[in-house]
Amino acid sequence: MGVYLGLLLWRTKCLVLCIFMTFMLGCFIALTPITSDVCDCADKQSSDLKERKTEEQTYHTEGDEAKHKLAVLVPFRDRFDELLEFAPHMHKFLKKQNINHQIFVLNQIDSYRFNRAALINVGFREVCPECDYIAMHDVDLLPLNSQLSYGYPESGPFHVASPQLHPRYNYSTFVGGILLIKREDFQKVNGMSNKYWGWGLEDDEFYVRLKEAKLQISRPQNITTGKNNTFRHMHDRVRRKRDMTKCFNQIQVTRHRDLETGMNTVSYKLAEVRQMSIDDAPVTVLNVKLHCDKLLTPWCECGSNNPSVQRTATASKLKKSG
Ligand code: UDP
Ligand code: MN
Repeated sequence: MGVYLGLLLWRTKCLVLCIFMTFMLGCFIALTPITSDVCDCADKQSSDLKERKTEEQTYHTEGDEAKHKLAVLVPFRDRFDELLEFAPHMHKFLKKQNINHQIFVLNQIDSYRFNRAALINVGFREVCPECDYIAMHDVDLLPLNSQLSYGYPESGPFHVASPQLHPRYNYSTFVGGILLIKREDFQKVNGMSNKYWGWGLEDDEFYVRLKEAKLQISRPQNITTGKNNTFRHMHDRVRRKRDMTKCFNQIQVTRHRDLETGMNTVSYKLAEVRQMSIDDAPVTVLNVKLHCDKLLTPWCECGSNNPSVQRTATASKLKKSG
């Protein structure tokens, strides 16, 4: 009986011990933090990858020009054929001059009329201060002469597409096509006006800003080529019709210097950033949705039923001569 009782006691002890250990193990499992396979690792990886890819898009050099970084800002909509020529050509051209650079295509994806200047403002806000100077660069204008310098414009804006050399425009205040400007100078004039929807005059208004700020504009000197062979302007005037429509009070407003808008007021949404290569040229595409304040600039849309629509440009003070 004593042996039997001892055995029973021993078995009970074992049972209690077992229950206790099971309980402890249960507690341990319950309190251990859950680590999930679908943690934020994927996110982390993609943002690391994004940074790395953006870095890879930059062409780095050594030497004198290496301390500066050029952002080539290309206002863009529906000019894919031109871009296919532009990107490899510019990459090669700038590499030859040992320029640290990155090409940004500012692709306007909203349904308003094209706004070259607002896109340049967006590009500047998105990519500088990582850059220290920009090239405001038409996609259809290729520099052919290696004497055309894209170096840092220390002493003021440098107008590469000089009226003496541009195949189409030849008036002395022309600053369109290709203009290099350092970050501080662009900021000083509050960038460009956002009021220019449709073709023309935004560059002439920018000229007035530069003059008012007393910035010295310089242009290429001692170039051995002329108007027909310094640049290639890939512009078929029938296929790439310029949007000269004017509506509402667009003519009156856009012939005056704009004291209201600039890089600090441009309203937009950056919808997407894509990295791509064209041949061996890295290109960063920014898909941009511009916003339009219809009280300020109703001409961002000129509906065909609008009685105020004029299909031809009227002469104005700021009008381009080409
Ligand atoms: N642009 C564009 N899509 C357009 C209109 C203009 O991409 O529908 C860009 C492009 O970079 C072009 C620049 O704006 O080179 C200037 O426009 P355009 O060539 O019509 O002006 P031009 O200097 O030939 O009068
Ligand atoms: Mn053109």
